[in-house]
Amino acid sequence: MTQDSNNDASHDTANDRPLQVACPQCRKSVEWTSDNPYRPFCSKRCRLIDLGAWADESHRIVGEPAMDEADLDALIDKLERGGDNR
Ligand SMILES: [Zn+2]
Repeated sequence: MTQDSNNDASHDTANDRPLQVACPQCRKSVEWTSDNPYRPFCSKRCRLIDLGAWADESHRIVGEPAMDEADLDALIDKLERGGDNR
């Protein structure tokens, strides 16, 4: 009559599941396993997009001083005109 030892099914497979994370690029849920070399991204594509975004940002930072140079030019122009010491 003691056949209810099957009631123990409350703690079974929950711990065997791999951790799931959201892909930072497309928000798709990804399994964090050593099978996935692109984690936390879901795929190579998403990883490359992210890297590309980074590269793009650093390019922009490098390009920005050009605007500052124009400002400096105007400033130098003003200073040169003001310092009429010749
Ligand atoms: Zn993705």
